[in-house]
Amino acid sequence: MKLDWNNIDTVLLDMDGTILDRHFDDHFWLEHVPKRYAAKHRLPLDEAKDLLYKRFRSQENTLNWTDLDYWTEQLGLDIPLLKQEVDHLIAVHPFVVEFLLFLKRHEKRIYLVTNAHGKTLALKLNKTRIGPYFTGIVSAHELGIPKEDVAFWPALQKRIPYHPESTLLGEDSETNLSTAATYGIRYLIYVSRFSSTVTPRASERFASIHYFSQLIPQDGEMALTL
Ligand SMILES: [Mg+2]
Repeated sequence: MKLDWNNIDTVLLDMDGTILDRHFDDHFWLEHVPKRYAAKHRLPLDEAKDLLYKRFRSQENTLNWTDLDYWTEQLGLDIPLLKQEVDHLIAVHPFVVEFLLFLKRHEKRIYLVTNAHGKTLALKLNKTRIGPYFTGIVSAHELGIPKEDVAFWPALQKRIPYHPESTLLGEDSETNLSTAATYGIRYLIYVSRFSSTVTPRASERFASIHYFSQLIPQDGEMALTL
């Protein structure tokens, strides 16, 4: 893919896995919540994991997936409080701040566009202090549609003015990149190193990067090839 920054005026960035280390979220849902659930119901940990993983999967691609109030009610656990217990794992990926500064220097509009619930967003922005870099922040919960649904992207356009043909989207979800592609967003970037604990695997469909430093041209030119 040829990326000419002269042709891009807006950058949409996902949060979890894209600019923040998804190790926090994976550890939280796959380890921490089952541990607390097992303790509460006096279940073996493996049994709690089986049970919870099934329930999580049943809500995949819906807003319930990221809705802390939904899970608090469903599981009878104070999910926002449990998140605070492991919030030391919340971390910004390497080179994200450098990339945001590059975008600011070139006067691009930068939006954080996330499926994360308002309570998750508040915890993470407070912990990382990354909010002020963005022109605006939109949670899919405000629009009532997750990014996995093609209808999300026109709904977003009513909220923030962007032109699909001059917009870049960074995501660690190929599903979300696919819905954005269907809507015509032109520059689609897959973040393959979404967690500090995974071995990155490039997407077969989308241009892939490990780090956002790969999108910063090094030679003073504004174009690069991915
Ligand atoms: Mg993500």
